[in-house]
Amino acid sequence: MGRRKKKKRKSKSARPKRLPRCPRAGYPRRNWLVRSLEFKDYREYQKSSLWQAIRLRVIERDKGLCRICNQRGRDCHHIDYELHTLNGTDISNIILVCRKCHDECEFEGRTKLIQQKASQKTLELLKGTIT
Ligand SMILES: [Zn+2]
Repeated sequence: MGRRKKKKRKSKSARPKRLPRCPRAGYPRRNWLVRSLEFKDYREYQKSSLWQAIRLRVIERDKGLCRICNQRGRDCHHIDYELHTLNGTDISNIILVCRKCHDECEFEGRTKLIQQKASQKTLELLKGTIT
């Protein structure tokens, strides 16, 4: 009776929400996995008691020494950021390093390496094939 059919709205919010897929690699993947553990971001994760406990386990396992140069170390370096690493189930891919070696792992000169390259370089430093 003269009533107009409601216009269908095609706004984004009306569409069923699809969860974004987990990125395949690198820092985007790390950030996605950190959010899946219900942290807002990686910074929040680093402040968490979960991370503090993991850090203490790494320091204890490596006896306070840098795994690359054997000097005193205080930094934890991630070789990967897989879920089992982030949630502390498996800490074998986190190593204790000194500040100097940490920079060596993550930088080439003044350029910060992408995560995959940093991992590769870390493994080479651990094997002693580059100095
Ligand atoms: Zn070192």
